[in-house]
Amino acid sequence: MLRLRARSVHPVTAPPIADGAVLVDDRGKLAAVGPAATVPAPVGARQLEFPDGAIVPGLVNCHTHLELTHLAGRNAGRGFPRWIRTIRALKDATTPEEFSRSAEQGVRDGWARGITCIADTGSSGAVLPALSRLGGRGIAYHEVFGPDPHQADASLAQLEEALSQLEPFVTSLAALGISPHAPYTVSAPLYRAVAALARRDHFPIAVHIAESYEETLLVRDGLGPFAEALWDRGIAVARQDCSPVQYLERLGVLSPETLCIHCVQVDAQDVKALRHAGAAIAHCPRSNSAHGHGAAPLPAVRAAGLRVGVGTDSVVSVGDLDLIAETRAAGLSGEDALSVLTLEGATALGLENEIGSLQVGKQADLAVFPFTVAYRPLPSARALLTVVAGRVVHG
Ligand SMILES: [Zn+2]
Repeated sequence: MLRLRARSVHPVTAPPIADGAVLVDDRGKLAAVGPAATVPAPVGARQLEFPDGAIVPGLVNCHTHLELTHLAGRNAGRGFPRWIRTIRALKDATTPEEFSRSAEQGVRDGWARGITCIADTGSSGAVLPALSRLGGRGIAYHEVFGPDPHQADASLAQLEEALSQLEPFVTSLAALGISPHAPYTVSAPLYRAVAALARRDHFPIAVHIAESYEETLLVRDGLGPFAEALWDRGIAVARQDCSPVQYLERLGVLSPETLCIHCVQVDAQDVKALRHAGAAIAHCPRSNSAHGHGAAPLPAVRAAGLRVGVGTDSVVSVGDLDLIAETRAAGLSGEDALSVLTLEGATALGLENEIGSLQVGKQADLAVFPFTVAYRPLPSARALLTVVAGRVVHG
């Protein structure tokens, strides 16, 4: 058993508790949460005290690419289509061992930042085994590519092969999902086939969507740099006369199991479509700003009742896994920011019954941060302690 006491405890589903404590049982679940005087201290329990700390639920990073951890600072290329091509080249030059080390380092870097759950997308297949080996929590969405409609069957077969190789690494904490990468790398027939596979085998889906203006140009008008790159490869481009979100809706990709990453280039009709489908959003403001995509309409999507969490995106885009900086970039602060970082992120991933708040019976996923008045309750600092499913993983 583990008993933690701190200057403040922030359950998220209840008001903050001054001089609070939590008790974690041997199954890794929360057995008590409350004022320190009311939380039992069983004989033999490990006790840790943080007189200048704040205990919060573990942070949920709703979008990242941990296989790219080793590439931090390696791609300063201007212009998004070119940036994407450079990433592909850097990935092609990475060995499986490097991906594996990179993924493990990414999981540990997240823990040092108080992140206890990740929604990761990648194509190396390194992240799920890393989570599995280290005892981390998250969903690893395996990417599938194929912009040429004639490739759809081959891409789908490759995806099914990769999924069957990854399935042995699924644990009670680490799940497997699918990610048809983006409209400029996935053809319409491939989107449809992947959506059908996800429905049949109950895989959650993550999609990069409505990120750049160039993507809208491609989908809506069949024009722009992404279209030109496809023409150069002899791939036909069809204008869809609709927004990227409406395109996914038409293809049957949007559902409550779909996590839509970015959603910057969206209008009121798109928000309605996302809401109608019950899809969730991973909001990545620092990445969007770094690439010059603009700002996603966070207040509008939250007001519409959509499930939204924040994500760092890759360290190649933003430099680090400082999830708290994402809420500041999104204009959130205080308990509102904490809610988005924890329970709302967990809800976006469909994990709100297990994690996201400090409530008796939930998984003991939590972090202790230095207590500050200025950014109450969370400073942009390293966590003093991080716990996943009752196990101390950092600190
Ligand atoms: Zn991404």
